[in-house]
Amino acid sequence: MTIFKLLLLPGDGIGPEVMAEVEKIIDCFASEGVAKFETEKGLVGGCAYDAHGKAISEADMALAGAADAILFAAVGGPKWDGVPYDVRPEAGLLRLRKDLALYANLRPAICYPALASASSLKPEVVEGLDIMIVRELTGGVYFGEPKQIIDLGNGQKRAIDTQVYDTFEIERIGRTAFELARNRGNKVTSSEKRNVMKSGVLWHEVMTALHKREYSDVKLEHQLADALGMQLVRWPKQFDVIVTDNLFGDMLSDVAAMLTGSLGMLPSASLGDVDPKSGRRKALYEPVHGSAPDIAGKGLANPIAMIGSFGMALRYSFGLNAAADRLDAAIARVLADGLRTADIRGDGDRLASTGEMGDAIVAELGRSAG
Ligand code: NAD
Repeated sequence: MTIFKLLLLPGDGIGPEVMAEVEKIIDCFASEGVAKFETEKGLVGGCAYDAHGKAISEADMALAGAADAILFAAVGGPKWDGVPYDVRPEAGLLRLRKDLALYANLRPAICYPALASASSLKPEVVEGLDIMIVRELTGGVYFGEPKQIIDLGNGQKRAIDTQVYDTFEIERIGRTAFELARNRGNKVTSSEKRNVMKSGVLWHEVMTALHKREYSDVKLEHQLADALGMQLVRWPKQFDVIVTDNLFGDMLSDVAAMLTGSLGMLPSASLGDVDPKSGRRKALYEPVHGSAPDIAGKGLANPIAMIGSFGMALRYSFGLNAAADRLDAAIARVLADGLRTADIRGDGDRLASTGEMGDAIVAELGRSAG
């Protein structure tokens, strides 16, 4: 049986609590013989700063480089607000993304039927929603040079950020989107602002050529990013896979996220290139939420975003699609049964602690075994 190497980075705040629930799921699949997982644990964020004086140690970076997938929970908290900028908790996550060249950020927005009424949109607009936003993560205006504030000497300053994309960066994120679409609804919507930005003109040109050359079996649409933002809240079910740059992806994925209810429900994946030798891609899976210091240590955290992130690892790193489907179905059944953590609880629902939610999902998995 293939052995999958997992590095667990629980981090700070509620991180260790939600990671503990994922460990139950890993044990459950391992004991069923679905796969063999070799897990190691490391420190990242504030806890790594306390132990090593930096946001992630070289030893843990080496473990990350050797892992088939990294599960990252959350970092940060008021305790580390005053630490030097380059060793602040978030620097650990940024280093992982940069050193492992994780350029494709996948943010699914799925609305479980049982939670449709928790959305700020009408239930019929979001019920059954299943879209995937693919955001370019290592290029664009967040990283382009020059990036500076210049003192003009006349009492004025000038701030400069540079939006820059090369053909290869657009092609590789486009491939990620088209490949994903082939295993979903077979449709990609590419989004930019070609009406006002040169990078948008190139983005549109490269996506169109890539589609024609390699993916003409997939439906491709283009939408300007502002129009897409509007369509996302008007009728989100028109979308399957959306591919866009770093800046627009940052905003649009947060909009899509809120269609589905709580932050505690949202998983994500960040993927790098496929290694030609092993056939695997570098990958980090993490919930969208932060370390939630306001509820840390109280058993109030919703572990579903973290568990769903492991589900994405099963699908995108290990090819265990049947196991991932079972996990998604187990989560949906637990929710349909009316069990809720405090963040998603409605009238008449039964309140579950972090641990009770994890146990209920494991119990449902047990029922679907074999
Ligand atoms: P946050 O996501 O931690 O919390 C926002 C709100 O959502 C809080 O009220 C919190 O209680 C709630 N919440 C978040 N996750 C939840 C869960 N799983 N279950 C139930 N409720 C949940 O964002 P914030 O408050 O802006 O930031 C807190 C800390 O987290 C800061 O130090 C910030 O820098 C850090 N942060 C880290 C990451 C990361 O590690 N990737 C991301 C965002 C924020």
